[in-house]
Amino acid sequence: MSERILLVEDEEKLARMVEMELKYEGYQVEKALDGRRGLELALGGSFDLVLLDIMLPQLSGMEVLRRLRRESQVPVIMLTARDSVVDKVAGLDSEADDYITKPFAIEELLARIRAALRGKGGLAAQSLPLAVGPLVMDVEKHQVTVRGRNVELTKKEFDLLRHLLENKDRVLTREALLDAVWGFDFVGETNSVDVYIRFLRSKLDDAFGLKLIHTVRGVGYVIKED
Ligand code: CA
Repeated sequence: MSERILLVEDEEKLARMVEMELKYEGYQVEKALDGRRGLELALGGSFDLVLLDIMLPQLSGMEVLRRLRRESQVPVIMLTARDSVVDKVAGLDSEADDYITKPFAIEELLARIRAALRGKGGLAAQSLPLAVGPLVMDVEKHQVTVRGRNVELTKKEFDLLRHLLENKDRVLTREALLDAVWGFDFVGETNSVDVYIRFLRSKLDDAFGLKLIHTVRGVGYVIKED
């Protein structure tokens, strides 16, 4: 049976989009547009996961979480507005299982959902490390190493590298990368991708004498072993 997800989000457009994507992935989805209804559903229904916006009418996401936790240990991923409450949420780590900052790429949300469901379902061993050649990414620890040496990446660099690794040996267009890493409502130039590819090359390929990130002229980029 497919997993049941409760989505509590008052931005209807975003809620509809997320619902559609989740259903497409095979999840069952229920939606609440305010905190009170969200809490009611969360307490009443048997959900495998709750996606919980923070800024909600009626009852804030924080309050929903606090009340929910008195009765339930269902995994909760908080949806937060741009950076504003990240610190506050990070401090909540014992209560929320994870959080994601808007705007987010749907791929990232799906990856977090899979991770949260795994954590609960005891399928933990299934998370494969992402790797190419001597480069290894530990998504849960948010860590990248080359030959065992730690590489510091910014969030965007990390997300871009992750998307390349998840599609190892497959050529990705700039548009696809932009969409996956910068998100559905990004407004800007596709050359952001080129700029960040350059950052990654300098930190990975150049720093370690490797050639992992390849340009496919007129198409885009691919990560692969030489
Ligand atoms: Ca909101």
